[in-house]
Amino acid sequence: MTGGEPAMPGSGPAQDRQDPGRPPGRHRTAGAPSGPAAPVIRLSSAAFTYRGPPPVAALKPTSMVIYRGEHVAITGPSGSGKSTLLNLLGLLDKPTQGSIEIDGIDVGAAPERERAAVRAHRIGFVFQSFHLLPYRTSIENVMLAQVYADEPRRRRHAAAMAALTQVGLEHRAHALPTALSGGERQRVAIARALVNRPALLMCDEPTGNLDTATTLELTDLLESLHRAGATLVVITHNPTVAARAQRQIAIRDGELTEISSATTAPPTGAPGPAPGAGVPQPPPARPEAPPPADRTPGNPTRPEAPPPDRTPGNPAHPEAPPPADSAPGGLDTLGFPDE
Ligand code: ADP
Ligand code: MG
Repeated sequence: MTGGEPAMPGSGPAQDRQDPGRPPGRHRTAGAPSGPAAPVIRLSSAAFTYRGPPPVAALKPTSMVIYRGEHVAITGPSGSGKSTLLNLLGLLDKPTQGSIEIDGIDVGAAPERERAAVRAHRIGFVFQSFHLLPYRTSIENVMLAQVYADEPRRRRHAAAMAALTQVGLEHRAHALPTALSGGERQRVAIARALVNRPALLMCDEPTGNLDTATTLELTDLLESLHRAGATLVVITHNPTVAARAQRQIAIRDGELTEISSATTAPPTGAPGPAPGAGVPQPPPARPEAPPPADRTPGNPTRPEAPPPDRTPGNPAHPEAPPPADSAPGGLDTLGFPDE
């Protein structure tokens, strides 16, 4: 779904076209591309089939690009392939066909060591069930991600506090998860996902365990991070959460379809992070995404338009690495390292 690139599902010659901006090479494509229009995720005829027996084609051949700074929601019923896609994007599985690049790195072809580094430094994960260590404070939970990303110890505390500030939770830095509300726990998890400045924030049902009011708060927070430059991929069942994304992609029977590209809806007014709490302020105006006509159902191909330019130097924005462990299912299974 890039300019000159295929939209999603399907196969055929069009899907194998490369856009002019595509860096050459297959493996490590020469230093992660940077700049406002750099692709963060590129699927090129990527597919995944569970071996079985019987084999299950859980993700049909798919080509799409998610650019730096985009906010994308992926929705689909149970069994449609969401987890399969997430496992591919989270580098837990490799495509059985085609390729996936994250930040310009062909992660399907990369050796395990490099895949682990991409997971640790370039992707921040947020899960439905938070995955916080129960006997560690908020700040310790955040700092754990830095341990796995090899952040020097002397910098960890300040960086973790900055991440907590970014989600409006610096005043709860020394609280245990049991003393936090669900929404606060998820904010800690988001701070943990952000602390190493990932290229991509990947959220799997981030509001699945939250009540309606807290869901709105969290959605406001995600949106403020997006406006500040974060690249977000949010898998969600919640139409309200999906509606706040710039792009909505539906997945059904392993096929992805672009269903909307509306600009981000206005904030709900639900309490977000306190003003001045360190959350980057949105830029005054955000250029429009491409017109929805390009992404209507049944018209899976849309010309790729790069996302709007982003506020430079913002903490949620890449350029620098992200959370280590945050591998799906990871944090709560890893003890806190003895420092
Ligand atoms: P979702 O997360 O949207 O509920 P999944 O990605 O888990 O969907 O599943 C997509 C399809 O792949 C489903 O038909 C599911 O039954 C199948 N599937 C998932 N995991 C496996 C597996 N380990 N082996 C075989 N089939 C699987
Ligand atoms: Mg699933």
